[in-house]
Amino acid sequence: MKRYIGCDLGGTNLRAAIVDIETGAVLHHSNIPTLAREGHEAVMQRMADLFVQIVQTARLEMDDIGGIGIGVPGVLDLKKGETLFLPNLPGTWPHVPLRDTISNLTGLPVAILNDVRSITYGEWKFGAGRGVNSVAVLAIGTGVGGGLVINGQLYLGAGGTAGELGHMVIDYNGPRCGCGNYGCLEVYASGPAIAAMGMKALAQGLTTKISELCEYNLNRITPELIARAAESGDEIASDIYEKAGFYLGVAASSVCAAVAPQRIILGGGVSHAGYLRLDPMKRTMLERVHTMPVEKVEVVLAQLGDNAGVIGAACWAESSSRHGNPV
Ligand SMILES: [Zn+2]
Repeated sequence: MKRYIGCDLGGTNLRAAIVDIETGAVLHHSNIPTLAREGHEAVMQRMADLFVQIVQTARLEMDDIGGIGIGVPGVLDLKKGETLFLPNLPGTWPHVPLRDTISNLTGLPVAILNDVRSITYGEWKFGAGRGVNSVAVLAIGTGVGGGLVINGQLYLGAGGTAGELGHMVIDYNGPRCGCGNYGCLEVYASGPAIAAMGMKALAQGLTTKISELCEYNLNRITPELIARAAESGDEIASDIYEKAGFYLGVAASSVCAAVAPQRIILGGGVSHAGYLRLDPMKRTMLERVHTMPVEKVEVVLAQLGDNAGVIGAACWAESSSRHGNPV
């Protein structure tokens, strides 16, 4: 049985893992800095070196590896295997032939996929999405990423760009989003949006434990810090998460109307505070969705943590080697 390499190309870290795609087990993993400022050529060389090195560390041969899957933070041309726009990496990587370059450097088949679609695929195969055939993922981090599994398949849509659930509009008069649209979910529910709500509360002079926890320094306010204040019973902090959960519920209501998923998974970097959002999210969905049996939609937290992306990317590489290019 061949092993597969899953990789998570982050703006800060490059993470690679050798994955048993039968069980979803991560057999070996390695983390190095991306050093994205050195440019895409250098980063791709570092990736290829990392893959060769992790195979050696695992005492395997390149022949034991069936392929490499790479989760990429941005917009891709899946047909050409190119990156089109990576907003968090210097230079934004327009038309970089990532798939073929890594394949040439390693001699292995390579498949690329958006990073949150990789997380979606991993959670569906081996995490919180197991056992159902339609799943929506909302991943909260610097932005709000998304992904869809519909009828037992990762849904990629025309050109492979479907699943950007963070860019569903929840207020057409809302503030400009990084994507160019206005009032997207991301503007209201991302990590920075939650931190901004905390900063605003302090700027307004409200009495909250957030002030002590950040030592009266607005720059120290993070979603995690606000979650800690909420957990200790602070009302302002609880309200912030209540609001974030409400916004997620509004967006999830549209997802229910559009695709009626059996399960919605809340994940991402700040998901350890996810349970603070689950209740207001579910409540909002129950109040607002009347076109389908919304009480049957399960709303759960992601289970695979940091491994979801590498597991999903590895499984994607295996699936692509069997079915070819899906787009
Ligand atoms: Zn947007």
